Amino acid sequence: MAPLGIGLIGTGYMGKCHALAWNAVASVFGDVERPRLAVLAESSQDLADIRARELGFERATGDWRALVNDPAVDVVSITTPNAFHPAMAIAAIEAGKHVWCEKPMATTLADAERMLEASRRAGTVAVLGYNYIQNPIMRLIRSLLTEGRIGPVNHIRIEMDEDFMADPDALFFWKSEASSGHGALDDFGVHALSLLTILVGGVRRVCGQMARPYVDRPVEDGTRRAVETFDIATMLVELETGASGVIALNRSAWGRKGRIAVQIFGSRGTLVFDQERMNEVQLFVADGDPRTRGFRTILSGPDHPPYDRFLPAAGHSLGFGDLKIIECRELIGRIRGEDAMVIDFESGIRIERCVDAMARSARSGTWVEVAT
Ligand code: NAD
Repeated sequence: MAPLGIGLIGTGYMGKCHALAWNAVASVFGDVERPRLAVLAESSQDLADIRARELGFERATGDWRALVNDPAVDVVSITTPNAFHPAMAIAAIEAGKHVWCEKPMATTLADAERMLEASRRAGTVAVLGYNYIQNPIMRLIRSLLTEGRIGPVNHIRIEMDEDFMADPDALFFWKSEASSGHGALDDFGVHALSLLTILVGGVRRVCGQMARPYVDRPVEDGTRRAVETFDIATMLVELETGASGVIALNRSAWGRKGRIAVQIFGSRGTLVFDQERMNEVQLFVADGDPRTRGFRTILSGPDHPPYDRFLPAAGHSLGFGDLKIIECRELIGRIRGEDAMVIDFESGIRIERCVDAMARSARSGTWVEVAT
């Protein structure tokens, strides 16, 4: 296969992660052509020029539409704020490009459905940035569940907490605007749902609450602006398997840095994971001598592929950025027609439908069925 030409839109937190992944994927995996970093787009030509030099892209533009129509580009990485995703993804898809779009897919279900329709019409590959499903430890958890090591799952609890919005005097920014979506639901809830999707399947119905810890935040001129999104959300979920679950999200949780605490309870055991300790999982199995039963800690290592592509020694730890490199390899695999573990627009829409049901439930205060 000829090297893929890459176009990157946005170079903030996620843009840099995508750029590092495109730079590293061939070196880490050794089984794909080195992608050609063709064009980078930013909000201005000056910023694009600086970032293209830093991140190794051949050309730079201040106009993302030029990038999506550029013949040197085969895949478009979209890492801009949420509100831009639909226009950028649809334009890229309609220009015949593959798309790697950051989560959430969109800020309204109607926009997400339009993105899905565009991708169905074009037949190109369109995947979403659900990096946490790529953790080799998460793949181990998935295998242990499939093998029935803890028996049928009857309950799952996912808590996702960070403190980047915990300070009531932190400046108002795009994540406080309604144009970014509902708040914690689109920001964190979609990640929790991506884990549910690969570990235990879909959600049948939801019941929840969304909360605003602070009603306003300061803006640059010293005045305060009303917060339009909900930084806290708590949801009861009923899975398609019949199992119950809880999803609790808080992006104003002082002291929590990158917590995604997952507890999966089965009839014969329990699995416990936390993204803040992303290289380990705790397994409890109710067998053997009851006096010596207990959780055991399994550290990630070369027995948990594709850890072995990064390091030959167990316990030396992968990092967040490595998950993006794995995601990038999976995306290339999907483009090549291989089996790949990605959440594409087809499965991503179920996450968006679930988020929509959660927001409606929070407004109505009742259980809401998730659209199929
Ligand atoms: P950011 O603010 O750090 O970066 C956004 C970038 O987009 C900036 O460089 C900005 O200049 C650029 N941009 C804005 N408008 C543009 C335009 N018209 N043309 C070109 N570039 C433009 O934001 P971020 O934290 O990187 O978030 C971006 C996306 O990534 C969001 O959708 C967010 O939800 C997602 N995200 C995903 C994860 C994850 O774990 N997968 C983590 C953080 C953020």
